[in-house]
Amino acid sequence: MSAIATNLQAVRTRISTAAKAAGRPPESIALLAVSKTWPLSSVIDAATAGQRAFGENYVQEGVDKASATVDRDLDWHFIGPLQSNKTRPVAEHFAWVHSIDRLKIAERLSAQRPADLPPLQVCVQVNVSGETSKSGCQPAEALALCQAVAALPRLTLRGLMAIPEPVDDEAGQRAPFRQLREIFETIRAAGLPLDTLSMGMSHDLEAAIAEGATIVRIGTAIFGERNYA
Ligand SMILES: *Cc1c(COP(=O)(O)O)cnc(C)c1O
Repeated sequence: MSAIATNLQAVRTRISTAAKAAGRPPESIALLAVSKTWPLSSVIDAATAGQRAFGENYVQEGVDKASATVDRDLDWHFIGPLQSNKTRPVAEHFAWVHSIDRLKIAERLSAQRPADLPPLQVCVQVNVSGETSKSGCQPAEALALCQAVAALPRLTLRGLMAIPEPVDDEAGQRAPFRQLREIFETIRAAGLPLDTLSMGMSHDLEAAIAEGATIVRIGTAIFGERNYA
């Protein structure tokens, strides 16, 4: 078995252990393998071990991997910051975008989504408390942005995404995930049928699952430490 296959199995075990501890069915949590910076061979290793959904942060790198694997029936998720002049290749090559943080990006993706593909599945990224990054809309803007995104014809709004600052204690990890879930419940109560909470990474997936994550985005625990050089 490849190291990646072994790591994938360990991550799946972490997910199901955390799900059971939270009283949730393990199948209610999808694993997104974040392959940014890793070569195509690592993606193929993971796909061979049964992994179907992959996440990428950089447009060209993601398009290259998606194009090289079109015959493998994989789902590609764009999870990084997206500039408006880069939306077209994302609309053409990805199944999901998790990082919608303003209406202009969503409008461009909707206009550029090819007619022969199903609607692009999207999440609105929210900047929950404690984040130092500038990505994501403010919590108070999330409902209005979701309502506007949900009205676009070639997108399907699925839910919310967040990237809290890494912290070590479980209570500190859970607080921003709980905040995202509360925003999610508020938006559902306003009538939008959201079903996706994209939250949790290698170091905090248990806390995210305890707070209701339905997609965890895992890179390091599957592929190893990234080298950006
Ligand atoms: C890199 C990245 C991940 C994966 O992080 P790990 O800590 O390696 O699991 C998840 N989500 C986003 C948005 C990322 O940029």
